[in-house]
Amino acid sequence: MKKILLDSKLTQYKANMHTHSTVSDGLKTPEELRDMYMAEGYSIVAYTDHDIFVCHNDLSNEHFLALNGFELGGFAEYGKSNWEAKVCHICYVALEPDNVRHPVWHRSKYLYGNAVSYRDTQAFYEDEPDFERSYTPECINEAIRRGREKGFFVTHNHPYFSLEEPCDYLSYEGHSAFEIMNYVSNFNGISGCHSVAYDALLRQGKRLVAIAGDDNHNFVHDSFGAFTMIAAERLEYREITKALEEGRCYASEGPEIKEIWVEDGKLHVKSSPAKHIKFSSNSRWGQTFFGENGELIAEAEYEILPEVKYMRITIVDDHNRCAYSRGYFIDELLPQNE
Ligand SMILES: [Zn+2]
Ligand SMILES: [Zn+2]
Repeated sequence: MKKILLDSKLTQYKANMHTHSTVSDGLKTPEELRDMYMAEGYSIVAYTDHDIFVCHNDLSNEHFLALNGFELGGFAEYGKSNWEAKVCHICYVALEPDNVRHPVWHRSKYLYGNAVSYRDTQAFYEDEPDFERSYTPECINEAIRRGREKGFFVTHNHPYFSLEEPCDYLSYEGHSAFEIMNYVSNFNGISGCHSVAYDALLRQGKRLVAIAGDDNHNFVHDSFGAFTMIAAERLEYREITKALEEGRCYASEGPEIKEIWVEDGKLHVKSSPAKHIKFSSNSRWGQTFFGENGELIAEAEYEILPEVKYMRITIVDDHNRCAYSRGYFIDELLPQNE
């Protein structure tokens, strides 16, 4: 029997899940970002300005959806200079379009750039004390917990740019997703690709969706390099956030994943033309499939070993750009093994 994991019958909507506008320290206005991303074939932009949560529902139209969010920073290692301190950045995207209250607000700290001028417009939980941020797993996990509790899709971002070590990000609990590719970190950070960190998280059993985003501020060419494809029936706010919650999406720098399914004990994938297709898991061993005589391939299958914890798929195109499936755990792949 065929079990579909990424359904080719659904429409895949192209999303930039991490962007900065003139609401904080970006160069483009929210409207300009909508127009430039729409012109490149995107249907969705998650507005994730630093620390301030502004509603952008007025930007949405029949062909474009603005997701309301923000990127929480302000967690910085104590006593170190700005350029060598570890930090932690987390993107929050509201699951509902009418959820406009900041879940971890501080009345007087943490805002910078143009965000300062929005302080007095911010809605928040007025009966709660100011949320003080410190770079400890306890504080970061509390920020994640409050975000989830108050209706947000919560993604841990770019640990390599943030100088975070495995001992740091493996201690974070309860978030929804992990930023496997942060495009701007290819230029101003150590590396944008976090696939090794993603496997470390999956090996620990953390069921995190894989997200890619540009993290563009538009001072350099930092747009259109990393996106998330979200499979849904309609381009409606809750349909899209539900698809994210359910992991009906993948991360990419270019290649497309058209369908993923399980059949006869094997994991199958169909993709855009690829130089190779790689299956990996928590096992030391995986398998990479190449076309014959250097030809490109667009489909592959690989046996699901019942003893693996999870599997994931990487598609690599002839420009060495990757698409990354999320990790699929064994109870999804082989339900009878639960
Ligand atoms: Zn960041
Ligand atoms: Zn950012």
